[in-house]
Amino acid sequence: MTQVPVREQTLDLIGNTPLVRLAGPSEEAGCDIYGKCEFANPGASVKDRAALYIIRDAEARGELKPGGCVVEGTAGNTGIGIALVANALGYRTIIVMPDNQSAEKMQTLRALGAELVTVSPTKYADPNHFQHVSRRLAEETEGAIWAGQFDNTANRKAHIEGTAKEIWEQMDGRIDGFTCSAGTGGTIAGVGMGLKEFDENVVIALTDPHGAALFNYYAKGELKAEGSSVAEGIGQGRITGNLEGAPIDTQFRISDEEGLEWVARLLREEGLCLGLSSGINVAGAVALGKHLKAEGRENARVVTILCDSGFRYLSTLYNAEWLGSKGLPVFDWLAQSD
Ligand code: PMP
Repeated sequence: MTQVPVREQTLDLIGNTPLVRLAGPSEEAGCDIYGKCEFANPGASVKDRAALYIIRDAEARGELKPGGCVVEGTAGNTGIGIALVANALGYRTIIVMPDNQSAEKMQTLRALGAELVTVSPTKYADPNHFQHVSRRLAEETEGAIWAGQFDNTANRKAHIEGTAKEIWEQMDGRIDGFTCSAGTGGTIAGVGMGLKEFDENVVIALTDPHGAALFNYYAKGELKAEGSSVAEGIGQGRITGNLEGAPIDTQFRISDEEGLEWVARLLREEGLCLGLSSGINVAGAVALGKHLKAEGRENARVVTILCDSGFRYLSTLYNAEWLGSKGLPVFDWLAQSD
Protein backbone atom coordinates (compact mmCIF):
# COMPACT_ATOMS: atom_id res chain seq x y z
CA MET A 1 0.00 0.00 0.00
CA THR A 2 1.31 3.46 -0.88
CA GLN A 3 2.24 5.53 2.13
CA VAL A 4 0.28 8.77 2.62
CA PRO A 5 2.90 11.55 2.45
CA VAL A 6 3.50 14.10 5.21
CA ARG A 7 2.02 17.49 4.23
CA GLU A 8 4.07 20.64 4.70
CA GLN A 9 1.13 22.90 5.62
CA THR A 10 -2.49 22.53 6.66
CA LEU A 11 -3.85 23.82 3.33
CA ASP A 12 -2.24 20.81 1.65
CA LEU A 13 -4.77 18.67 3.52
CA ILE A 14 -7.46 19.86 1.09
CA GLY A 15 -8.16 17.38 -1.71
CA ASN A 16 -6.58 13.98 -2.42
CA THR A 17 -9.61 12.41 -0.73
CA PRO A 18 -10.15 8.63 -0.72
CA LEU A 19 -12.45 6.81 -3.14
CA VAL A 20 -14.47 3.92 -1.73
CA ARG A 21 -16.52 1.16 -3.36
CA LEU A 22 -20.09 1.23 -2.04
CA ALA A 23 -21.36 -2.35 -1.63
CA GLY A 24 -25.13 -1.76 -1.35
CA PRO A 25 -25.42 0.67 -4.27
CA SER A 26 -23.17 -1.58 -6.41
CA GLU A 27 -25.37 -4.59 -5.72
CA GLU A 28 -28.53 -2.58 -6.44
CA ALA A 29 -27.18 -1.24 -9.76
CA GLY A 30 -25.49 -4.48 -10.86
CA CYS A 31 -22.18 -2.69 -11.46
CA ASP A 32 -19.46 -0.96 -9.42
CA ILE A 33 -20.37 2.29 -7.70
CA TYR A 34 -17.68 4.35 -5.99
CA GLY A 35 -17.96 7.37 -3.69
CA LYS A 36 -15.38 10.16 -3.52
CA CYS A 37 -15.08 10.92 0.19
CA GLU A 38 -15.23 14.71 0.17
CA PHE A 39 -16.35 14.69 3.81
CA ALA A 40 -12.70 13.81 4.53
CA ASN A 41 -11.57 17.35 3.68
CA PRO A 42 -10.52 19.48 6.71
CA GLY A 43 -13.81 21.44 6.59
CA ALA A 44 -15.72 18.15 6.13
CA SER A 45 -17.12 19.01 2.69
CA VAL A 46 -16.46 19.18 -1.04
CA LYS A 47 -16.41 22.99 -0.81
CA ASP A 48 -12.94 23.30 0.76
CA ARG A 49 -11.55 22.81 -2.74
CA ALA A 50 -13.50 25.72 -4.25
CA ALA A 51 -12.68 27.94 -1.25
CA LEU A 52 -8.94 27.36 -1.69
CA TYR A 53 -8.99 27.96 -5.47
CA ILE A 54 -11.14 31.11 -5.21
CA ILE A 55 -8.85 32.63 -2.57
CA ARG A 56 -5.63 31.68 -4.37
CA ASP A 57 -7.06 33.10 -7.62
CA ALA A 58 -7.96 36.42 -5.94
CA GLU A 59 -4.43 36.61 -4.51
CA ALA A 60 -2.88 35.85 -7.90
CA ARG A 61 -4.96 38.60 -9.54
CA GLY A 62 -3.77 41.03 -6.84
CA GLU A 63 -7.30 41.65 -5.56
CA LEU A 64 -6.87 40.04 -2.15
CA LYS A 65 -4.06 41.67 -0.18
CA PRO A 66 -2.44 40.71 3.15
CA GLY A 67 -4.84 41.27 6.05
CA GLY A 68 -7.81 41.48 3.66
CA CYS A 69 -11.28 40.03 4.02
CA VAL A 70 -13.25 37.37 2.11
CA VAL A 71 -17.03 37.80 1.90
CA GLU A 72 -19.37 35.10 0.61
CA GLY A 73 -23.01 34.08 0.45
CA THR A 74 -23.39 30.35 1.06
CA ALA A 75 -25.60 27.52 2.29
CA GLY A 76 -22.77 27.02 4.80
CA ASN A 77 -20.18 24.57 3.51
CA THR A 78 -18.38 27.07 1.28
CA GLY A 79 -18.33 29.46 4.22
CA ILE A 80 -16.70 26.82 6.40
CA GLY A 81 -14.08 26.15 3.70
CA ILE A 82 -13.42 29.87 3.25
CA ALA A 83 -13.11 30.45 7.00
CA LEU A 84 -10.53 27.65 7.31
CA VAL A 85 -8.47 28.80 4.33
CA ALA A 86 -8.75 32.47 5.35
CA ASN A 87 -7.60 31.64 8.90
CA ALA A 88 -4.59 29.76 7.52
CA LEU A 89 -3.66 32.72 5.30
CA GLY A 90 -4.42 35.60 7.67
CA TYR A 91 -7.67 36.95 6.19
CA ARG A 92 -10.99 37.87 7.85
CA THR A 93 -14.19 36.13 6.78
CA ILE A 94 -17.76 37.46 6.55
CA ILE A 95 -20.42 34.88 5.65
CA VAL A 96 -24.03 35.56 4.64
CA MET A 97 -26.32 32.57 5.00
CA PRO A 98 -30.08 31.91 4.74
CA ASP A 99 -31.40 31.20 8.25
CA ASN A 100 -33.13 27.93 7.27
CA GLN A 101 -29.83 26.05 6.97
CA SER A 102 -28.69 23.63 9.67
CA ALA A 103 -27.80 25.08 13.09
CA GLU A 104 -24.63 22.98 13.05
CA LYS A 105 -23.29 24.88 10.03
CA MET A 106 -23.97 28.24 11.69
CA GLN A 107 -22.36 27.09 14.96
CA THR A 108 -19.35 25.79 13.03
CA LEU A 109 -18.91 29.11 11.21
CA ARG A 110 -19.05 31.06 14.48
CA ALA A 111 -16.64 28.59 16.10
CA LEU A 112 -14.18 29.15 13.25
CA GLY A 113 -14.24 32.90 13.88
CA ALA A 114 -16.24 33.92 10.80
CA GLU A 115 -18.54 36.91 11.09
CA LEU A 116 -21.97 35.46 10.38
CA VAL A 117 -24.88 37.40 8.86
CA THR A 118 -28.16 35.47 8.50
CA VAL A 119 -30.95 36.53 6.13
CA SER A 120 -34.43 35.21 5.40
CA PRO A 121 -34.56 32.70 2.54
CA THR A 122 -35.95 34.34 -0.58
CA LYS A 123 -35.88 34.06 -4.37
CA TYR A 124 -32.75 34.92 -6.37
CA ALA A 125 -34.59 37.83 -8.04
CA ASP A 126 -35.11 39.49 -4.62
CA PRO A 127 -32.33 42.02 -3.79
CA ASN A 128 -32.30 40.57 -0.24
CA HIS A 129 -31.27 37.11 -1.49
CA PHE A 130 -28.15 35.96 0.39
CA GLN A 131 -25.97 36.13 -2.71
CA HIS A 132 -26.85 39.79 -3.43
CA VAL A 133 -26.50 40.78 0.25
CA SER A 134 -23.03 39.23 0.35
CA ARG A 135 -21.96 41.02 -2.85
CA ARG A 136 -23.08 44.40 -1.45
CA LEU A 137 -21.30 43.71 1.86
CA ALA A 138 -18.08 42.97 -0.02
CA GLU A 139 -18.39 46.23 -1.95
CA GLU A 140 -18.90 48.17 1.29
CA THR A 141 -16.09 46.50 3.25
CA GLU A 142 -12.55 47.90 3.09
CA GLY A 143 -10.00 45.42 1.67
CA ALA A 144 -12.69 42.81 0.95
CA ILE A 145 -13.26 40.55 -2.02
CA TRP A 146 -16.48 38.77 -2.92
CA ALA A 147 -15.84 35.06 -3.50
CA GLY A 148 -18.89 34.77 -5.82
CA GLN A 149 -18.75 30.96 -5.97
CA PHE A 150 -21.76 30.62 -8.31
CA ASP A 151 -20.25 32.48 -11.25
CA ASN A 152 -16.57 32.53 -10.32
CA THR A 153 -15.05 29.74 -12.44
CA ALA A 154 -12.06 29.36 -10.09
CA ASN A 155 -14.61 27.12 -8.35
CA ARG A 156 -14.91 24.57 -11.17
CA LYS A 157 -11.18 24.84 -11.91
CA ALA A 158 -10.60 23.24 -8.48
CA HIS A 159 -12.52 20.21 -9.77
CA ILE A 160 -10.95 20.12 -13.25
CA GLU A 161 -7.42 20.21 -11.83
CA GLY A 162 -8.13 18.39 -8.56
CA THR A 163 -11.19 16.16 -8.20
CA ALA A 164 -11.36 14.92 -11.82
CA LYS A 165 -7.65 14.16 -12.02
CA GLU A 166 -7.72 12.34 -8.68
CA ILE A 167 -10.75 10.26 -9.75
CA TRP A 168 -9.09 9.35 -13.07
CA GLU A 169 -5.90 8.24 -11.32
CA GLN A 170 -7.69 6.41 -8.49
CA MET A 171 -9.82 4.52 -11.05
CA ASP A 172 -6.68 3.64 -13.10
CA GLY A 173 -8.31 5.30 -16.10
CA ARG A 174 -11.22 2.84 -16.10
CA ILE A 175 -14.41 4.79 -15.49
CA ASP A 176 -17.68 4.62 -17.41
CA GLY A 177 -19.82 7.23 -15.72
CA PHE A 178 -19.83 10.10 -13.26
CA THR A 179 -22.78 11.83 -11.63
CA CYS A 180 -23.54 14.37 -8.92
CA SER A 181 -26.01 17.11 -8.08
CA ALA A 182 -25.43 20.85 -8.45
CA GLY A 183 -25.44 23.78 -6.07
CA THR A 184 -23.11 26.19 -7.82
CA GLY A 185 -22.49 23.48 -10.42
CA GLY A 186 -18.73 23.71 -9.85
CA THR A 187 -18.38 20.01 -9.04
CA ILE A 188 -20.47 18.54 -11.88
CA ALA A 189 -19.07 20.95 -14.47
CA GLY A 190 -15.46 20.73 -13.32
CA VAL A 191 -15.33 16.96 -12.84
CA GLY A 192 -17.28 16.50 -16.10
CA MET A 193 -14.89 18.70 -18.07
CA GLY A 194 -11.82 17.16 -16.47
CA LEU A 195 -12.92 13.55 -17.06
CA LYS A 196 -13.93 14.27 -20.68
CA GLU A 197 -10.40 15.56 -21.29
CA PHE A 198 -9.08 12.16 -20.23
CA ASP A 199 -11.76 10.13 -22.04
CA GLU A 200 -14.67 11.63 -23.94
CA ASN A 201 -16.65 8.37 -23.56
CA VAL A 202 -17.14 8.84 -19.81
CA VAL A 203 -20.89 9.51 -19.44
CA ILE A 204 -21.56 12.62 -17.33
CA ALA A 205 -25.00 12.68 -15.71
CA LEU A 206 -26.61 15.42 -13.67
CA THR A 207 -28.51 14.21 -10.61
CA ASP A 208 -31.08 16.86 -9.74
CA PRO A 209 -33.20 17.09 -6.57
CA HIS A 210 -36.87 18.08 -6.78
CA GLY A 211 -37.37 21.84 -6.65
CA ALA A 212 -34.42 22.52 -8.98
CA ALA A 213 -34.67 23.66 -12.59
CA LEU A 214 -31.70 21.89 -14.16
CA PHE A 215 -33.30 18.51 -14.90
CA ASN A 216 -35.82 20.16 -17.23
CA TYR A 217 -33.11 22.38 -18.69
CA TYR A 218 -30.88 19.49 -19.73
CA ALA A 219 -33.83 17.26 -20.72
CA LYS A 220 -35.80 19.83 -22.77
CA GLY A 221 -33.99 23.16 -22.73
CA GLU A 222 -36.45 24.68 -20.29
CA LEU A 223 -35.41 26.10 -16.88
CA LYS A 224 -38.40 24.94 -14.88
CA ALA A 225 -38.54 23.76 -11.26
CA GLU A 226 -41.10 21.25 -9.96
CA GLY A 227 -41.68 20.12 -6.38
CA SER A 228 -39.33 20.82 -3.49
CA SER A 229 -36.47 19.34 -1.45
CA VAL A 230 -35.01 19.79 2.02
CA ALA A 231 -31.49 18.93 0.80
CA GLU A 232 -29.04 21.70 1.70
CA GLY A 233 -26.43 23.03 -0.71
CA ILE A 234 -28.01 21.68 -3.91
CA GLY A 235 -30.91 22.62 -6.17
CA GLN A 236 -30.16 25.33 -8.73
CA GLY A 237 -32.63 27.48 -10.68
CA ARG A 238 -30.32 29.09 -13.24
CA ILE A 239 -27.31 28.38 -15.44
CA THR A 240 -24.52 29.73 -13.26
CA GLY A 241 -21.18 30.79 -14.70
CA ASN A 242 -19.79 27.47 -13.49
CA LEU A 243 -22.50 25.48 -15.30
CA GLU A 244 -21.92 27.21 -18.64
CA GLY A 245 -20.51 24.64 -21.07
CA ALA A 246 -20.86 21.73 -18.61
CA PRO A 247 -20.73 18.47 -20.63
CA ILE A 248 -23.97 16.88 -19.37
CA ASP A 249 -24.91 13.73 -21.37
CA THR A 250 -27.98 12.68 -19.39
CA GLN A 251 -29.93 13.55 -16.24
CA PHE A 252 -31.90 11.98 -13.39
CA ARG A 253 -34.36 13.48 -10.93
CA ILE A 254 -34.18 12.07 -7.40
CA SER A 255 -36.62 12.60 -4.52
CA ASP A 256 -35.65 13.32 -0.91
CA GLU A 257 -37.20 9.97 0.07
CA GLU A 258 -34.90 8.08 -2.35
CA GLY A 259 -31.89 10.07 -1.13
CA LEU A 260 -32.79 9.45 2.52
CA GLU A 261 -33.13 5.74 1.89
CA TRP A 262 -29.50 5.65 0.74
CA VAL A 263 -28.41 7.85 3.65
CA ALA A 264 -30.02 5.29 5.98
CA ARG A 265 -28.67 2.24 4.18
CA LEU A 266 -25.11 3.55 3.92
CA LEU A 267 -25.18 4.38 7.62
CA ARG A 268 -26.64 1.09 8.84
CA GLU A 269 -25.02 -1.28 6.35
CA GLU A 270 -21.68 0.38 5.59
CA GLY A 271 -21.01 2.71 8.56
CA LEU A 272 -20.95 5.93 6.53
CA CYS A 273 -22.70 8.96 8.06
CA LEU A 274 -23.56 11.40 5.26
CA GLY A 275 -25.67 14.45 4.41
CA LEU A 276 -28.70 14.30 2.12
CA SER A 277 -26.97 15.60 -1.03
CA SER A 278 -24.69 12.53 -0.80
CA GLY A 279 -27.72 10.23 -0.53
CA ILE A 280 -29.28 11.90 -3.57
CA ASN A 281 -25.97 11.54 -5.45
CA VAL A 282 -25.78 7.83 -4.61
CA ALA A 283 -29.38 7.32 -5.82
CA GLY A 284 -28.31 9.09 -9.04
CA ALA A 285 -25.26 6.85 -9.35
CA VAL A 286 -27.45 3.74 -9.04
CA ALA A 287 -29.74 5.17 -11.76
CA LEU A 288 -26.71 5.88 -13.98
CA GLY A 289 -25.34 2.36 -13.39
CA LYS A 290 -28.66 0.85 -14.48
CA HIS A 291 -28.79 3.19 -17.49
CA LEU A 292 -25.30 2.15 -18.61
CA LYS A 293 -26.22 -1.50 -18.19
CA ALA A 294 -29.38 -1.01 -20.29
CA GLU A 295 -27.16 0.55 -22.97
CA GLY A 296 -25.05 -2.59 -23.04
CA ARG A 297 -22.07 -1.43 -20.97
CA GLU A 298 -21.29 -4.51 -18.85
CA ASN A 299 -19.25 -4.20 -15.62
CA ALA A 300 -19.58 -0.43 -15.63
CA ARG A 301 -17.68 1.65 -13.09
CA VAL A 302 -19.57 4.71 -11.85
CA VAL A 303 -18.27 7.43 -9.52
CA THR A 304 -20.21 9.95 -7.43
CA ILE A 305 -19.48 12.50 -4.73
CA LEU A 306 -20.04 12.01 -0.99
CA CYS A 307 -20.31 15.77 -0.39
CA ASP A 308 -20.38 16.22 3.35
CA SER A 309 -20.67 14.55 6.74
CA GLY A 310 -23.95 13.65 8.41
CA PHE A 311 -22.55 15.11 11.65
CA ARG A 312 -23.42 18.47 10.11
CA TYR A 313 -27.14 17.56 10.24
CA LEU A 314 -27.70 15.96 13.66
CA SER A 315 -30.50 18.45 14.40
CA THR A 316 -32.26 17.77 11.09
CA LEU A 317 -31.71 14.56 9.10
CA TYR A 318 -30.87 12.57 12.22
CA ASN A 319 -33.65 14.04 14.34
CA ALA A 320 -37.00 12.20 14.40
CA GLU A 321 -38.99 15.32 15.24
CA TRP A 322 -37.50 17.34 12.39
CA LEU A 323 -38.00 14.56 9.85
CA GLY A 324 -41.60 14.16 11.00
CA SER A 325 -42.22 17.92 10.74
CA LYS A 326 -41.12 17.80 7.09
CA GLY A 327 -43.38 14.84 6.36
CA LEU A 328 -40.34 12.62 5.74
CA PRO A 329 -39.96 9.03 6.88
CA VAL A 330 -38.19 8.69 10.23
CA PHE A 331 -35.28 6.21 10.37
CA ASP A 332 -36.58 3.31 12.48
CA TRP A 333 -33.65 3.31 14.90
CA LEU A 334 -34.32 7.04 15.65
CA ALA A 335 -38.03 6.45 16.16
CA GLN A 336 -37.22 3.62 18.61
CA SER A 337 -34.80 5.70 20.71
CA ASP A 338 -37.44 8.35 21.52
N1 PMP B 1 -23.67 19.12 -1.33
C1 PMP B 1 -23.50 20.00 -0.34
C2 PMP B 1 -23.82 19.57 1.06
C3 PMP B 1 -23.07 21.32 -0.60
O1 PMP B 1 -22.92 22.19 0.41
C4 PMP B 1 -22.80 21.68 -1.94
C5 PMP B 1 -22.32 23.07 -2.24
N2 PMP B 1 -23.30 24.07 -2.25
C6 PMP B 1 -23.01 20.74 -2.96
C7 PMP B 1 -23.42 19.46 -2.62
C8 PMP B 1 -22.87 21.07 -4.43
O2 PMP B 1 -21.60 21.44 -4.83
P1 PMP B 1 -21.39 22.47 -6.02
O3 PMP B 1 -21.56 23.86 -5.43
O4 PMP B 1 -20.00 22.24 -6.48
O5 PMP B 1 -22.40 22.25 -7.08
